[in-house]
Amino acid sequence: MQKQLRKIVILGSTGSIGRSTLEVLDDHPGRFDVVGLAAKSDVERMLAQIERYRPNYVYMGDQSAADFLSGEALVKNIDVLTGDEGMITMASLPEVELVVNALVGSVGLLASLTTVENGKYLALANKESLVVGGPLFEEAVARTGARVLPIDSEHSAIWQCMASGRDSEIRRLILTASGGPFRTKKKDEFKSVTKEEALDHPTWKMGPKVTIDSATLMNKGLELIEAVWLFSIPPEMVSIVVHPQSVVHSMVEYVDSSVVAQMSAPDMKLPIAYALFWPERVRGNYGRLDLTEMQSLTFTKPDAEKFPAINLAYNAATLGGTAPAALNAANEVAVESFLLGRIGFMDITDIIEKTLGKHTVVEKPSLLDILDADRWGRKTAEGFVH
Ligand code: MG
Repeated sequence: MQKQLRKIVILGSTGSIGRSTLEVLDDHPGRFDVVGLAAKSDVERMLAQIERYRPNYVYMGDQSAADFLSGEALVKNIDVLTGDEGMITMASLPEVELVVNALVGSVGLLASLTTVENGKYLALANKESLVVGGPLFEEAVARTGARVLPIDSEHSAIWQCMASGRDSEIRRLILTASGGPFRTKKKDEFKSVTKEEALDHPTWKMGPKVTIDSATLMNKGLELIEAVWLFSIPPEMVSIVVHPQSVVHSMVEYVDSSVVAQMSAPDMKLPIAYALFWPERVRGNYGRLDLTEMQSLTFTKPDAEKFPAINLAYNAATLGGTAPAALNAANEVAVESFLLGRIGFMDITDIIEKTLGKHTVVEKPSLLDILDADRWGRKTAEGFVH
C-alpha cells in the first residue's frame, strides 16, 4: 500500500532555514508533499522552487514580488497570495498537517498563531513568534491540541534531552551559546566593530539578522525567552553557558543532578529533520560527530558586562506580559539600523535598554496588546536612533 504523503507548507522557503528544510525533504523523497511556499521578495529563488516542488499556493510578502510572480507562465495554476489575508490562508489550509515557520522577524507571529489556532503541527524556527506572542500560545495550544515543534538547535536539543525524564523532574535547562564572533574581543574594541566583522559568525551560517543577534548575544536572550514559553519554565530555571565549539546544543539538568546533553556537529538539518519527522528519527548523516576529532569542549559563564543583551532578556522574561514584545521590537529596529550603518554596534543594546526602561508592561496581554507593544517598541526605539 502506498504511504500517504504528509502535506507541508514552508514559510520562509527562500531563506537559509527554508532552503535547508527543502534539502531535508529532498533527502527523504516520498514522505512529504509541498503544498505551499512563502517568501518575502526573492522571486528568482521562488521561481526555481516552484518549478521543482510544484506547490498549489505561493505567498510573497512584497506586493510587487507577488505581482511579478503572477505574471509568470510557470505560476499559471498556482494561487499567488500576499498580505495578512494571504498569510492566514497559507497557515490554515485544511489539507495541511505541518507548517514550517522560518520567516524572519515578528512578521512570523501571525503565521504561527494561525497555525496553532488551526490545531496543526508548527515546526518553529521563527523564534520571535514565541518571544513576542508567548502568552497567547500556551492558551491556544491547550485549546486546539496543536503542537509546537522547535527547529532552533538549542530548543531541539532540550526537547530531545527532555525525553530522559519527566517534566516535573527538571531542575534547570542549560542553554549553550557559541559566544558569537566577539567572544574574545575586549569591551573597549566594541565601539569600532564593523558590519562585516559582526556578520562573520564562527560556527553557524545564517541570515544577517540572526548573525547580528549572535554577535550581541541577543540571540541567546531571545532563545531564553523562547525556552520559557516553549517548555513552560520560569526564567530563573534557565542558565546560559558559553560553549564556542557548538557541539553540545543544550542540556537538561534533572533533580538527581544528572545532566543530559544533545550533541552533533553544527548542522541545522539535524534539528529540522527531528521536527519534521518527530516522533520518528530518520536515518541521516547531518552533523555526524567524531568525538575523537575534538580537541576539547569548553564551557564558561557569559560576560554580562560585555554582552548586556543577556540581562536585558532575563529582565524582560521576568517582567513577562508585553515586555518581551517591546524588547524584540526594539532589537529589530536597532539591528536594522546597525545594518544600515545608522548606529554603532554598542548602540544596539543601548537602544533596547532605553526602550525597555520606558515600557509599561501589560501583564496578561491580548493579541492587540502585543501588537500595540510591538508598534510602541519600534516607534520608541526609532526615536533613540540618531
Ligand atoms: Mg539557536
